[in-house]
Amino acid sequence: MSLLRVSGLTKEFGDLTAVDDVSFDIEDGEFVSILGPSGSGKSTVLRMVAGFEEPTEGEISLDDVEIVGSPPFERDVNMVFQDLALFPHLTVAENIGYGLKQSGVPADERRERTERMLEMVRLEGYGDRAPAELSGGEQQRVALARALVNEPALVLFDEPLSSLDRKLRQHMQSELQRIQLETDTTFLYVTHDQEVALAVSDRLVVLDDGEIQQVGTVEELYEAPASRFVADFIGDVNAVEGRVTAVDDGTIGLDVGDGEVSVPRDAAVEELAVDDAVDVCIRPFLMRAEPAESDRDAVDDANETFSTTGVVRSRSYQGSDSLYGIETDRWGRLSAEVRSASFDVDDRVAIAWDAADVHVYRREGGAPPSEDGGA
Ligand code: ADP
Ligand code: MG
Repeated sequence: MSLLRVSGLTKEFGDLTAVDDVSFDIEDGEFVSILGPSGSGKSTVLRMVAGFEEPTEGEISLDDVEIVGSPPFERDVNMVFQDLALFPHLTVAENIGYGLKQSGVPADERRERTERMLEMVRLEGYGDRAPAELSGGEQQRVALARALVNEPALVLFDEPLSSLDRKLRQHMQSELQRIQLETDTTFLYVTHDQEVALAVSDRLVVLDDGEIQQVGTVEELYEAPASRFVADFIGDVNAVEGRVTAVDDGTIGLDVGDGEVSVPRDAAVEELAVDDAVDVCIRPFLMRAEPAESDRDAVDDANETFSTTGVVRSRSYQGSDSLYGIETDRWGRLSAEVRSASFDVDDRVAIAWDAADVHVYRREGGAPPSEDGGA
């Protein structure tokens, strides 16, 4: 059974629809992230779940009980805020035990549960300090302990790691996962940072302009993005403009730039018709590259494979592989992430990729590409 069920959630601020008919479920024990650019409505969704904001329309149920209309403190939900909102005049232990005190838990039990939380977030011995005496990462842990101490069903996070440097952020990501598993709590995490979201989440809800773009596991979103927006937002993608020339049972024929190619029908997530303007998308890491002796080196069987030659314009090291910016002869500038080969700027290369790895999206309002095509 779903722990949290959000259905038809809409929030209007005057003329602005900040959240537009959003529906998703979270299972008990899941770690779900809402991922979207700044202003996409993430915090507004979270604030409605927490009870700080009333929906214009829609329902939110927790454990099958409708919670819209009930005050925040009556919801079995705690929130970790972006600025953490620790009480500066209270000690670390008092910060963590604050909610327990408010709800009348006796001092002994409070102390015991606070101690247990300090252990959980690996801050034993820090109870008597003031928040200002802690590092940024330690303050994160206090905020987390405070949100967990009364064992809520659901913990909400509004970009709490965005102020940390990369190393510390990665460390806190794995700490969050550990603590989530150890406490058996359900987490709903909001972030604009795809790296964080991919690292920590069981499933993602991708939001743009108040609307859900896709809900799925990291793998589903990465391997089968439902839109160009999702493909761009989750990882890197090359996009080449094209036009549909044929649709039959198994394949879609495409005019991309100077040539005809065909891709499997399921490369397109939506129905396409002849003459539709499309983006033909391929992940940089799915491209192959080898040195090109001549311009004719590209693989010939265009029906199976996309191939072209080009000139390396940029390279950047990424640990075990390199990312090349290649000015191609057929399809404009593309990036290729290559592991086994090493090229220099100005080298001529032959690049290719499989039609089966391509995703095709209708370009909304897109004019058909001009005769010479190109991205
Ligand atoms: P995100 O958290 O994804 O950055 P928000 O949920 O904060 O986005 O905001 C979504 C949209 O709603 C933005 O355009 C924002 O300016 C607007 N908004 C948020 N809160 C209010 C408010 N209290 N009054 C008016 N507009 C708001
Ligand atoms: Mg926000």
